[in-house]
Amino acid sequence: MIKKQLKLILVSTPIGYLGSGKGGGVELTIVSLIKGLISLGHKIILIAPKGSKLPFESELLEIRLIDGVDQPSWQHQDRKDPVLIPSKSVLPNLWEEVIDIANKSDAVINFAYDWLPLWLTKTQSIKIFHLISMGAESIVMKETISEISELFPFRLAFHTKRQSKDYSLKTDPIIVGNGFDTDDYLFNEMENGPLGWAGRIAPEKGLEDAVKVANDLGEKLLVWGLIEDKEYASKIENTFTNEIVEWKGFLPTNKFQEQLGRCRALINTPKWNEAYGNVIVEAMACGVPVIAYDLGGPGELIEDGFNGFLVKPNDIEGLIKATKSISEIKRKNCRAWFEKKATSKVFAERVENWLHKGLNKKISADLQD
Ligand code: UDP
Repeated sequence: MIKKQLKLILVSTPIGYLGSGKGGGVELTIVSLIKGLISLGHKIILIAPKGSKLPFESELLEIRLIDGVDQPSWQHQDRKDPVLIPSKSVLPNLWEEVIDIANKSDAVINFAYDWLPLWLTKTQSIKIFHLISMGAESIVMKETISEISELFPFRLAFHTKRQSKDYSLKTDPIIVGNGFDTDDYLFNEMENGPLGWAGRIAPEKGLEDAVKVANDLGEKLLVWGLIEDKEYASKIENTFTNEIVEWKGFLPTNKFQEQLGRCRALINTPKWNEAYGNVIVEAMACGVPVIAYDLGGPGELIEDGFNGFLVKPNDIEGLIKATKSISEIKRKNCRAWFEKKATSKVFAERVENWLHKGLNKKISADLQD
């Protein structure tokens, strides 16, 4: 039985071009999902802000680049703020392109955590699906997502159960996790490396707590990621008399995984309901155990004592204790967890099932288009 090939339009985040790092984890999610969907034989049109690049090409992939000004990200606005669409914004431009070509597709997948695409879902006949990439960071977004869940329960998917609990949903949430290309991450056996931390350098990511751990242990902390908030970054540096943080910059995946793989542990200290936590799984893919706060996504990705340790949020002593015990975790367990639960192939299969559910088609159709 041959599965039906779907013609899909994927609409990228309007917060920076793909590869800029401004969009955070969603950038890699889009790249991995495209790779996975192509490996399943689906045809993709990616609509993304100008400057976006993908690290591979395929006959099944077309990219359309759209000009315009970045959207402000919701995580840096007040919960009660209204919807903002700046002058010459890329967001409506992306969606004008979608509306122009949507009749050539079976479905559209939106990756923007934004009001406009959600609102279009109820006003357009296009079948728009939304992979929600954050917890409920704004009241208007929470209300809009809840409304769509009532009108079209199968058009929404979430990365983790804990993320979905932020929303008032009318039916059980569809959870698709996330996934990364196995070939992009090499297993590293080295057990005695440094401590690492990775993510956007912004208050909700809680870098200061990991720095406290390294400081207490008299070690350096290697830090990878885009400095989104310069003031916050220098405040962390100035809090400690010793030079604890070794800034490694924002690296492309191949270099990032190579350096990350040499760590003995990744410390992940979010202060918000982290929707997933890409860097956690990327570390595990390299064989690096993760010590994280039991908050949001990390709590579902880490099996305490198997691929890392979970610690009560804000418990620095707990982080220190876990760091001292990290040799108890087998690095092979981390890679095995990744290969079973979070490759781009398993992710794409979960997304494919979600789309079929939403399109109300059989999971495997008998005929190809
Ligand atoms: N990242 C990267 N290079 C770096 C550090 C981080 O490409 O040097 C990427 C990483 O691969 C991940 C993203 O930054 O996809 C951070 O995503 P995460 O889900 O951890 O957090 P978010 O930024 O979405 O809150």
